[in-house]
Amino acid sequence: MKQPNIGTQSIWAGENDYLAFGATQVPVVHSVSFGYDDMDDWYDVAVGQKEGHIYGRNTNPTVQAFEEKIKILEGAESATSFSTGMAAISNTLSTFLFPGDRIVSIKDTYGGTNKIFTEFLPKQQVDVMLCETGDHEAAEAELAKGCQVLYLETPTNPTVKITNIKRLAKAGKESGAIVIVDNTFATPVNQHPLALGADLVIHSATKFLGGHADALGGALCGSKELVEKVYHYREINGATLDPMAAYLLLRGMKTLKLRVDKQNENAMAVARYLQTVDMVNEVFYPGLDSHTGHEIAKEQMSGFGGMLSFSVRGGVDTVRHLLPKLKYANRAANLGAVETIVGPARTTSHVECTPEERAAMGIPEGLIRYSAGIEDIEDLIADLQQAFAALPADVVVKAY
Ligand SMILES: *Cc1c(COP(=O)(O)O)cnc(C)c1O
Repeated sequence: MKQPNIGTQSIWAGENDYLAFGATQVPVVHSVSFGYDDMDDWYDVAVGQKEGHIYGRNTNPTVQAFEEKIKILEGAESATSFSTGMAAISNTLSTFLFPGDRIVSIKDTYGGTNKIFTEFLPKQQVDVMLCETGDHEAAEAELAKGCQVLYLETPTNPTVKITNIKRLAKAGKESGAIVIVDNTFATPVNQHPLALGADLVIHSATKFLGGHADALGGALCGSKELVEKVYHYREINGATLDPMAAYLLLRGMKTLKLRVDKQNENAMAVARYLQTVDMVNEVFYPGLDSHTGHEIAKEQMSGFGGMLSFSVRGGVDTVRHLLPKLKYANRAANLGAVETIVGPARTTSHVECTPEERAAMGIPEGLIRYSAGIEDIEDLIADLQQAFAALPADVVVKAY
């Protein structure tokens, strides 16, 4: 039989080996450790010669079912998990980077990732080179100088810039680097970085994978050789995914395909609507012809994702009045949930940066990040319409 499609996989993949007592759902195994009556069995499992669980910081059946599912969705040989997306990122970088090493990345990574690059890695004597996002020639030139890690994120947070994974993965491999891609925004429904040449894929499972904004988690997928190295770092350093969170993520992932398809559709419709609004300066969505990364996105993605952003006339002043008027949107820092979520970039993705740093990254103070939920699109558009219509006259006048 042919490999099932991703919608079928998101429901069925990875669960079979973890069912117990005839239950059709994966159990939440709340046990810190796993006991053995047979000393030889215990020894064999402890030294990894036999399958089994020893201690919850290392492995847990519920957590393993989550790892199996994301592994299959990403088409990877192996996967491991973490307490958060940032733990996945920091543990992976710490596994592969040592004093004197060099990492090449882009300027527009997630705010927390950017902090690792600008604050923490330099303290560990790791040389960090951040290239202009979308300037592939500049990245290739830096890669040609040699580095241990190439780290990409596409689409980026919050201006949804696109990087050509195939092109830079090839250049990264030629320089001997491990190529890592944060696939949080795209999800495996829209993009498969491993098939495009990446070595490792990272997720903040907190976002689209879980999809319900009720559990934190992270995942890493790739070859057995590389993933096991990071797993070892994580099992010792302790950023382990909690079994209850793993269960919530697993449950959320069953509807991943349905949700992301709807979010793709809603984001596209909202982006098109925003382009018609006078108070909107600029709309950033890779599904729009006007977006700088549109052609590359069309090539490497099967959907453009649920994330967009837009800048409003009048900057922060307009944002302050507009966002509280939305009825069907949480004003919050997360993204990728079933509910629509809005927030200013300066308060959410890039709150760790100074206004000057944000300006240097091309992030206007009046930029609004919009994570499309799965509501009916007519209601989302009507909600935006009434919010724009209710802006106080003086705010509108001042904005022109
Ligand atoms: C949220 C996010 C992260 C960090 O994930 P946490 O689960 O919040 O630690 C990393 N990368 C991207 C693209 C994100 O959106």
